[in-house]
Amino acid sequence: MSVDERMIDEVAKIINESENVVVLSGRKVFREIGLNGVTAEHMAYDIEAKYGHSSNEIVTAAFLNWRVEDFFDYFKNVILNPKVKEIPDSVKDVKKLMDYGRVKKVVTRDVYSLYSKAGCEEDDVIALNGTVEDNKCPNCGKIYSSDYVLDNGPVPTCADCKVPLRPGFGMYNEMMDSGKINDSCQAVEDADVVIILGSSAKAKVFNNLLRYIEEEKLIIISDVESFGDEVATYRLYGNISDIMNKITEKVTKVEKPEKEEEPEVPEADDKEADAKEVDEKTADATDSKEE
Ligand SMILES: [Zn+2]
Repeated sequence: MSVDERMIDEVAKIINESENVVVLSGRKVFREIGLNGVTAEHMAYDIEAKYGHSSNEIVTAAFLNWRVEDFFDYFKNVILNPKVKEIPDSVKDVKKLMDYGRVKKVVTRDVYSLYSKAGCEEDDVIALNGTVEDNKCPNCGKIYSSDYVLDNGPVPTCADCKVPLRPGFGMYNEMMDSGKINDSCQAVEDADVVIILGSSAKAKVFNNLLRYIEEEKLIIISDVESFGDEVATYRLYGNISDIMNKITEKVTKVEKPEKEEEPEVPEADDKEADAKEVDEKTADATDSKEE
């Protein structure tokens, strides 16, 4: 058995002992299927060449006001990738672990509502950076989807008010929603196990949350090892979706004990079955009489 397989067994075992796993989902989860994210660090050179500014300068309220066409060009061509329609397999597996009663909450940096699209309940997902699906009219508050942004000219405006939309993702220089931060801290603090998926222990947003978790409860799953990851006892590197799939295959559903007040239901079933048996007997008897 290779080291990785042993690690997968160990991680699956830890998850199987918990009903409160929290997943911190990072950039590499969506990069795996070709989505760039808001800051698109891996495209820094191309972005600078095309727009004459870095992503950190572009994704600001000032830039939106100043160069609205360039802002939306960046939104459509860098952040949104209309060619990518699927959901990463790793996200589907997290949803499966939620259905199994193992994962309780996901804190995600993706702005694509990937977990919602995979079927997760809104209450179970904290989208730290907002979502490209909640673009808002600053005037009337009406919400427009990413498809609307893609399909409505160089500068998508509110159909009623004709003013440019405000993107649903967080701007670079804006404070993150403190309610979401508090909810994330609480979730991590309450968790038995935390999985950092597609990120590193040093990633700024997640690093702040890690003080709430002990290292033997921390699992990192990512493409490559990063400096600082050694704070986690369990670390797995490679194709993120493959690793998640191997783990998920070994995780079982939480077996809920039968509720006390429900023994009447099987009893009723028994009676029904008995009655049916009687009917059948009667029918048999009738049959034999006819013969
Ligand atoms: Zn409006």
